[in-house]
Amino acid sequence: MGTVPELFGSMVFDDRVMKARLSDKIYNSMKKTIEEGADLDISVANAVAQAMKDWAIEKGATHYTHWFQPLTGVTAEKHDSFISPSPDGRVIMEFSGKELIKGEPDASSFPSGGLRATFEARGYTAWDPTSFAFVKGKTLCIPTAFCSYGGEALDKKTPLLRSMQALNTQAIRILRLFGNDEVRQVRTNVGPEQEYFLITKEVYEQRKDLIFTGRTLFGAKPPKGQEMDDHYFGIIKPRVAAYMEDLNEELWKLGILAKTEHNEVAPAQHELAPIFTTTNLATDNNQLTMEIMQKVAAKHGLVCLLHEKPFAGVNGSGKHNNWSIATDKGENLLSPGDTPHENAQFLLFLCAVIKAVDDYQDLLRLSVATAGNDHRLGANEAPPAVISIFLGDELTAVLKSIEEDKPYLDAGKEVMKLGVSVLPKFQKDTTDRNRTSPFAFTGNKFEFRMLGSSNSIACCNMLLNSAVAESLKQYADKLEGAEDFNAALDALIKKTIKDHKRIIFNGNGYDDAWIKEATEERGLLNLRTTADAMPRLLDEKNVQMLTYHKVFSKAELESRCEVMLDNYCKSVSIEATTMIDMAKKQIVPAIEEYISYVATTAAAKAALGPEISCKFEKERVARLSVLVDQIVERTATLEAKLAEFSDIADIIPAAEFIRDEILTTMESVREAADEAEVLTAEKYWPFPTYGDILFSVK
Ligand code: ADP
Ligand code: MG
Repeated sequence: MGTVPELFGSMVFDDRVMKARLSDKIYNSMKKTIEEGADLDISVANAVAQAMKDWAIEKGATHYTHWFQPLTGVTAEKHDSFISPSPDGRVIMEFSGKELIKGEPDASSFPSGGLRATFEARGYTAWDPTSFAFVKGKTLCIPTAFCSYGGEALDKKTPLLRSMQALNTQAIRILRLFGNDEVRQVRTNVGPEQEYFLITKEVYEQRKDLIFTGRTLFGAKPPKGQEMDDHYFGIIKPRVAAYMEDLNEELWKLGILAKTEHNEVAPAQHELAPIFTTTNLATDNNQLTMEIMQKVAAKHGLVCLLHEKPFAGVNGSGKHNNWSIATDKGENLLSPGDTPHENAQFLLFLCAVIKAVDDYQDLLRLSVATAGNDHRLGANEAPPAVISIFLGDELTAVLKSIEEDKPYLDAGKEVMKLGVSVLPKFQKDTTDRNRTSPFAFTGNKFEFRMLGSSNSIACCNMLLNSAVAESLKQYADKLEGAEDFNAALDALIKKTIKDHKRIIFNGNGYDDAWIKEATEERGLLNLRTTADAMPRLLDEKNVQMLTYHKVFSKAELESRCEVMLDNYCKSVSIEATTMIDMAKKQIVPAIEEYISYVATTAAAKAALGPEISCKFEKERVARLSVLVDQIVERTATLEAKLAEFSDIADIIPAAEFIRDEILTTMESVREAADEAEVLTAEKYWPFPTYGDILFSVK
């Protein structure tokens, strides 16, 4: 391996490579496309394709693919080789601008949520020049958007890019009002912290539930769990350290700024955080990171679990979406400034976020809704399903003083009057103490903590960007027409605080009293499951906002809602089917075998004479027999309910049936089986237990 700076980005066709390999003319027009979204000329595309191919071949590539993010949640690629026959019967390696710009994968195998029925089966992929191409294995990967022939987005990148555009448009209007004529682009930046579990391949392969569903469907609590808190930031085991080293190297080659790594709360749980970057790049990078994490694990004889809740009773895995808004001049618009003027601008952007989060709580909640994440949210280890914002006491007090038109006093000293004085600096350590908040201000960025570990960050960011664009639009509409800008600004900020302060909560988000206060007194939403949250996507106010900003068409929203709910139903049905299989073919036979052993022992003991006690054997056989009956009966109920489920035609009642009938029956099967596990001798149990799995990496 070379030095880190040599290694970093060595597999990426980035700005440095373009500068070195393209003529000035081509490079400049590429830059214009990347930075200002200018149209790409085909002659430019041809030149870029040529340079990209030559570079990729030097890196060992033989194929290229349009790399995209369909609604399934994983990335998709269809490889084509560069090979092209030449007249002399040999081959040459070719790649044209046309092939770079547009691909035509068969869309019929990707979910479209009904869009395909009305439009064509084929779709096309279009190059996103704002995200760099890279070589992975022997393939040149070209980040692309994926659309139907009618132009409807079938992926996550397209609406994300549209939301960035919407936010850019509205934020620039606001900046112009503050007299800033230089900024040409406003972008959001994201740094996603990624949690995961590492277990050995040996234990993984013995668990059908992990193989088919990514989580354990059975398993009694281990004797040693996370009670000791000795894993968090603890010493990293050599095997894990070797994995992390290898992983970092692979990520660095792909230009991903993997920076911190540490153990997490649960045994076998770890975290990786990259340095933040532009949202669409951060999204591509996070998808790649998840893929590489799994690949590198396989090389080390390990399995990387990205499921949100692989183990019941043990902390699940989330992802923290650290988000900020910045200009192309490098100014972070969520950073309190040094002058009164900057402060006013900061407060307006802050208010835009507060308003957006309150107005579109439902969108943020549903943006992270999956069957897996439903197990985490509100389970006292992750934020509740209720959205609220943590601002910290200091900033909350500043807002209160503005609302009440009183000067803000800090240690007796007046430090804040809108447009006149300077805001105190909010140190990260004074703002980041609360880890229970779903949406926390951490000094110069917001950290959205509800994401599940396997969620694509595209989903929450496209909705967050859109919601903030809407606040900014409403502000700009008012301010542009105002006679007295400062008075209008003051009124706007006051009104926002008054109307939306219910969303601000600095207390403990895990507290039951908070959920009661939030829902009963403050009227905040508590959308507990995917079945509750997802249909909200189609609420009139949401459709209106998202179509106004051209992030989605109505048809796209309908299709997405359908796909996400279908995904929820499918995930849980697969779990239920796996559960039935394991219960019938593994668990019941294992318990019966143990019962037979205990009963045989009892009979042998009884034969020795009446003075020998068989109390233990009798009690054990009695209890296990009850449990076996329960498992068998409840499994049969689950089968019957699955059959009933398959007859439900409409997606919303289907999702509700999954929530109310299938998941609850699954819990009852598990309850009986987990009790039986504790009562059955270890060598009879048919697969590795929680203790075996969680402490499998030595
Ligand atoms: P934590 O204490 O939550 O672990 P860190 O300060 O280490 O937080 O940062 C976590 C993530 O936030 C990192 O990915 C980091 O790059 C990202 N981050 C830092 N500043 C910003 C910013 N201005 N915008 C977006 N993300 C940021
Ligand atoms: Mg964090």
